[in-house]
Amino acid sequence: MIKKGLLIVVSGPSGAGKGTICKNLLELNPDIKISISATTRAPRKGEVEGVNYYFISNQDFEEMLQQDALLEYAKVYDNYYGTPKKYVLDNLEKGNDVLLEIDIVGALQVKDKFKDGVFVFILPPSLEELKNRIVGRGTESNVDIEKRYGCAIEEIEQVIKYDYAVINDDVDRATKDVEAIIKAEKCKVTRV
Ligand code: 5GP
Repeated sequence: MIKKGLLIVVSGPSGAGKGTICKNLLELNPDIKISISATTRAPRKGEVEGVNYYFISNQDFEEMLQQDALLEYAKVYDNYYGTPKKYVLDNLEKGNDVLLEIDIVGALQVKDKFKDGVFVFILPPSLEELKNRIVGRGTESNVDIEKRYGCAIEEIEQVIKYDYAVINDDVDRATKDVEAIIKAEKCKVTRV
């Protein structure tokens, strides 16, 4: 019998650096499969369809919901985001580890369904540094920066619902921490 893959869920506030950590993690561990989310958000400069996201219309998103094609979904900053279910379930079944980089609302839906997934929260070193990073990224308007910063503070309070918290004061070390968490999870007596 093939051992099922590990479902790895990474969340964290905007600007905590979870995207960079996930990118590094995948470069170092090419066997991990990344789930590409569907979103109704418009692509940012440089984002590629099917690589960063599947950019779809509100109507298509609703259709996916009706067809029960999403493992979870959430409305984040006025746009919908969701995880296509089939890719995740097929890969776990094949024994592949699957990484989801999703928000907290979605992560909690996944937690209800996958008791043996691993849930990791990425924290910024400080709130001041978080704001600097959101501003420095230069992808958001002033209104969006304030919105994201306000949400970030609320989101950080949710860390308690996760299995692990990783402070991203140094991206390489934080990536190693996430790798170590994954290794430890895979050695759990209940999984071997
Ligand atoms: P961004 O617009 O910056 O790419 O993403 C905004 C937020 O949506 C981030 O917190 C990101 O993790 C989250 N997100 C991305 N994809 C999904 C998804 O499939 N489901 C949920 N619930 N959140 C997602």
